[in-house]
Amino acid sequence: MDYKNKIISVCKFTKIHKLLKPFLAGKGTILAFHRISLNKCEKQRIPTCAKLEVSTDLLESMIQYLIQSGYQFLSLDEVYDRVVNGFESSGKRFVSFTFDDGYLDNYTLAYPILKRYKIPMTIYLTTSFPDRETTLWWYKLEDMILNSGTIEFEYNKRGYAFHAGTLKEKEISYNDIHKLIFNTPQEELENLYACVFDNYEFKRDYMSLLMSWEDVKNISFDPLVTIGAHSVNHYNLRKLTPSDLEYELRTSKERIEEKIGRNVDHFAYPFGSKSTAGRREFEAAASTSFKMATTTRGGNIFPRHKEHLYCLPRISVTWEDFHYIDCDKF
Ligand SMILES: [Zn+2]
Repeated sequence: MDYKNKIISVCKFTKIHKLLKPFLAGKGTILAFHRISLNKCEKQRIPTCAKLEVSTDLLESMIQYLIQSGYQFLSLDEVYDRVVNGFESSGKRFVSFTFDDGYLDNYTLAYPILKRYKIPMTIYLTTSFPDRETTLWWYKLEDMILNSGTIEFEYNKRGYAFHAGTLKEKEISYNDIHKLIFNTPQEELENLYACVFDNYEFKRDYMSLLMSWEDVKNISFDPLVTIGAHSVNHYNLRKLTPSDLEYELRTSKERIEEKIGRNVDHFAYPFGSKSTAGRREFEAAASTSFKMATTTRGGNIFPRHKEHLYCLPRISVTWEDFHYIDCDKF
């Protein structure tokens, strides 16, 4: 059995098959990816952070499985068209590939694979990423914890100390600090970042993980590629005032349109869970003239979604779906 057939065989009969099970219901599925990586086994990682990455081998094996299983591959405009005007009677289910945030590996690693199979893809772009106005605190935090035995800082006159000796301790500390950052009001964040990170010397160029506007423009020329918006700052939209919410939606749409010279009709809510996007955010996306918007609430697409174009579910694909495979074997 050759290398690729071996992966397909593993996928079919183990957990990838389970991952694909939700596809059995409804008319199809919008898949949500974040990062694509070359090799899951190259260095120690904190699982919470690494799980947002799927390897190129597994992306390709998933595509081959979907082809063999007879799925149609649709762009988001085609999904919109089907949802609004009705699904074909062929009975073929569809899959639509979407990638959140705007990581460079979407362009350098995912795009060449999808292009080889002529599969449409959507990149939902957070505009502060190519504008280089973001703090990739989740990767900074991961590096800091991986390279430290303890983490100590003072914030709001309170001292914080976290153990980071073992991988388990590192993961617990990562999740605790992640929670602290996630629950801090937007206006306090810069101060908190300074307290957590300022005493640590970072050696990586984090901005190199992100697409530039030049990359976005280049990839947008391909008719297989749709660029959607994913807000300006990737905030929890539910925590924002109405005017800040409107700014995040409208400015991200207009900024991308200005850069690529095309309409931006699709939106994905940052984080996309129930606690971060609800009725108010769905109405805001509708009044910002997006054609439709997606969440990360898990589920497939049904004809009834014609009435719910601004809260379409997706199936998130994460490393956890695949990590049972020992990549040394491949
Ligand atoms: Zn995101």
